[in-house]
Amino acid sequence: MKMKKPIIKPSENKCPECMGAGYVSAKHPTRPGVKTYTVCKECKGKGRLAAD
Ligand SMILES: [Zn+2]
Repeated sequence: MKMKKPIIKPSENKCPECMGAGYVSAKHPTRPGVKTYTVCKECKGKGRLAAD
């Protein structure tokens, strides 16, 4: 009798857009040399995305 390996499916994945940080550096900073961070639009600041 074979035991099936439990397959753990995470309900959430790390957001690839912000690498789990929840925010991303703005592509168009208002001031040159000043890094502006905005809430990640993919995960809305959570840093994770629901896996489907
Ligand atoms: Zn994100």
